[in-house]
Amino acid sequence: MDFSSKLLEQAVDEMSQLPGIGKRTALRLVLHLLKQPEAQTQNLASALTKLRSEIKLCKNCFNISDTELCDICANPARNEELVCVVEDIRDVMAIENTGQYRGHYHVLGGKISPMDGVGPSQLNIHPLIEKVKAGKVEEIIFALSSTLEGDTTNFYIFKQLEGTKIKTSTIARGISVGDELEYADEVTLGRSIANRVPFESSLKG
Ligand SMILES: [Zn+2]
Repeated sequence: MDFSSKLLEQAVDEMSQLPGIGKRTALRLVLHLLKQPEAQTQNLASALTKLRSEIKLCKNCFNISDTELCDICANPARNEELVCVVEDIRDVMAIENTGQYRGHYHVLGGKISPMDGVGPSQLNIHPLIEKVKAGKVEEIIFALSSTLEGDTTNFYIFKQLEGTKIKTSTIARGISVGDELEYADEVTLGRSIANRVPFESSLKG
């Protein structure tokens, strides 16, 4: 692509780093921004800068938060003895949308995937095990997507918890294998949490 302006080229280059955005789309977006009032682009830029510099991970559950403790962990009405283990914040949002879950979460930040070079130490697994060993948790609900990586991660955590008295369960699947949680409809997802099954029984299938 030949650009008449270095500034334009640089903006397009940066924009095209985003997932799913090729150079052509990047150019279209940048030209769109140029047509908007200047304040609008400044608002976008400052929202992104603020997001990057001020956002925190909840120190209890690793959910993305504006404060040290996220709204869910800080809410005394939520049951902290029930912890739903999820991959990322999109899963938290999907489950919250069901309006049927009143426990806490633990956000792993990914799944174990040797193919992608992601091992247990790169995920927030250790703090989860510590939380359980500190006796603060009664039940863990595994809610990772039922892919090979999700199953591997569940099983790894399950093994780490051997010898503790914790109850482990997995969300019942009205959701077919390989479906990501965020795409499951709210009714199905809500039901699958309510009808969760003991984790051991999911291993026998
Ligand atoms: Zn939290």
